Amino acid sequence: MHAKWPSYIRWQGEISLAHLGVLFLDELPEFSRAVLEVLRQPLESGEILISRVAAQLVYPARFQQLAAMNPCPCGYLGYPQCQCKTEQIKRYRAKVSGPLMDRIDLQVQVLPIARHALTDPHQTGTQGDMAALRATIVKSRRRQFARQGFLNSQLDSRALLKYCPLDKAQKALMHHAIDHYNLSTRSYYRVLRVASSIADPEDIAKPKLQHYQEALSFRQPSA
Ligand SMILES: [Zn+2]
Repeated sequence: MHAKWPSYIRWQGEISLAHLGVLFLDELPEFSRAVLEVLRQPLESGEILISRVAAQLVYPARFQQLAAMNPCPCGYLGYPQCQCKTEQIKRYRAKVSGPLMDRIDLQVQVLPIARHALTDPHQTGTQGDMAALRATIVKSRRRQFARQGFLNSQLDSRALLKYCPLDKAQKALMHHAIDHYNLSTRSYYRVLRVASSIADPEDIAKPKLQHYQEALSFRQPSA
């Protein structure tokens, strides 16, 4: 694309190029706020709208978004090397807006790899593990198509009520979570979709309580 166009316009191109693939953003807070906010619309709709004076264009943009960031500007939070001030850490994290974090279903803290794990080949994944993982994913996808005719990522609120109704204990857990995690309506339904995806490899009719608990463990509780 044209090098002189603003960065958020060029990003609209990158987002559409990632259609049916993966869009990986390393060092997430280093992207400009304008670029990150462009992501919000396609993450919801699977399309990117480009508006110009003469015309509006819609490009497909259904992608899986992955992102990585450090816990603080230096990356050593909790270790003696870290000299970051609380205000610096706050500013760094605030670069990623709440609404964008809300759309990230699985938020995982990755700890440094221990020395023995680096040098022990048994600690790393093998081709055999990958084959078993692939078979589980294929089976889960088939199960989703058989149950509802589409993948869990496209389950809307009405379909979730129909295919994965909550029982009494699950409702109580989610009520607690709405307050404790300050869940928005959007993230509430996202948690239900993730629980359904966690349950599917177990070949059961609907998610159990522990699947909702596990789905919530991937969200950061509100401060
Ligand atoms: Zn630091």
